[in-house]
Amino acid sequence: MASAFGHAFFAATVSFWPSFNRLDARTKWLGIAFSVIPDLDVLAFRFGIPYDHVLGHRGLTHSLLFAAILAWMADRWLWANHQIRRWLYLFICMASHGLLDALTNGGRGVAFFAPFWNQRYFFPFRPIQVSPIRAGAFFSERGWHILASEWWWIALPSLILVLTLWAVNRFLPQG
Ligand SMILES: [Zn+2]
Repeated sequence: MASAFGHAFFAATVSFWPSFNRLDARTKWLGIAFSVIPDLDVLAFRFGIPYDHVLGHRGLTHSLLFAAILAWMADRWLWANHQIRRWLYLFICMASHGLLDALTNGGRGVAFFAPFWNQRYFFPFRPIQVSPIRAGAFFSERGWHILASEWWWIALPSLILVLTLWAVNRFLPQG
């Protein structure tokens, strides 16, 4: 995993995208929650499920299909009006989790296409310092290294993107 902070920060950025910034606040908060939910799969270790298993860490909950289905269920069940835009936002928030994990320099790859293929993937470029599975290990010196790498590779690009979007919205003629 990247850390929960990195995932949440990225999802918060997505909510500034022009197509999404008019979504209601509840949708935006849910998107941020969606960006960290995939890592609940670390509970699999408690049940003795190995890392490489489809239900193991970075398995099914990190897949694109899981993100698509959860986004669909949330849009369907939590709101009276269904919106493809809301579905897309929630999907991107959750799917971004696996994409960021695939940029980390540790652990196993991400099973983007589970449950059909349990092949694990990384991107060729993996600059993000992997975050430990045990939360306790994060709150040590190692945590600072992780946050520093996420600052450079997630937060800073996200901030540049937000400012660019803001400037485009603000200064370009509308219509
Ligand atoms: Zn993860």
